[in-house]
Amino acid sequence: MPELPEVETIKRDLEKKILGKKIIAIEADKPKVIKEPSLDKFRKGLVGKRPKEVIRKAKVLIIKFEDNKFLVIHLRISGWLQYGKKEDKARVLFKLSDGKYLNYMDQRLLGELRLRSDYKDLKFIQRLGPEPFELSLKEFKDIIRTKKTKIKPLLMDQAVISGIGNIYAQESLFESKILPTRQSLSLKDREISLLYKNIRGVLNKAIQNRGSSVDTYRDIDGRTGGMEEKLRVYGRQNEPCFKCRRSIKKINLGGRGTCFCPSCQH
Ligand SMILES: [Zn+2]
Repeated sequence: MPELPEVETIKRDLEKKILGKKIIAIEADKPKVIKEPSLDKFRKGLVGKRPKEVIRKAKVLIIKFEDNKFLVIHLRISGWLQYGKKEDKARVLFKLSDGKYLNYMDQRLLGELRLRSDYKDLKFIQRLGPEPFELSLKEFKDIIRTKKTKIKPLLMDQAVISGIGNIYAQESLFESKILPTRQSLSLKDREISLLYKNIRGVLNKAIQNRGSSVDTYRDIDGRTGGMEEKLRVYGRQNEPCFKCRRSIKKINLGGRGTCFCPSCQH
């Protein structure tokens, strides 16, 4: 599932490739992913319009059009966008005035597209907590100190902090030498400060490397990200830790596979 760095990469690429280009036709092989309005209204609302801004809220993409309508794209598990030629497997095709296509790809049909006059009233947007880059250290400390839960599921709780998923929660905890199973209330002040710094560091590094393609994620040119080769703990069970050379362990935590170094993380 794309996390903040992957969706930020898509956002930046879309800004370069589609802004100002008129949508001249829409084809939908599987209109099921179009949640509102009807396919007919969706098409009428977008054809002839130019995107003027791309917005990202945590893992959700929002394209603002010149008539101030918003195309809200929630990629969820398997959705992605590809710009260029017409793709046979596209679920929804946006033909652009430069002769290229923006293909909405989604093998499992779990993503959601909506055309609306606002996006801030959507429940899944309203439920989002602040992003790590929007939080001051003091605000982050307050969150960690008031929630009685394990630290890793807390970092992934989108209602508390939005944008961090399974990959970057594991990476941030490894860099901070904190076990994913630690109770958040047990974290010392210096550990919280270190975690705050490392979450930002890990996310920034992932954005610079255009995200991690550990599953279906591709950028809008269909290329994989460069971050998965740089991951230090995610997906490395039974491999040697980069810091101490002992074996990385994997456990199930809150239904999610979680890797850590039992020697470096406490
Ligand atoms: Zn280690």
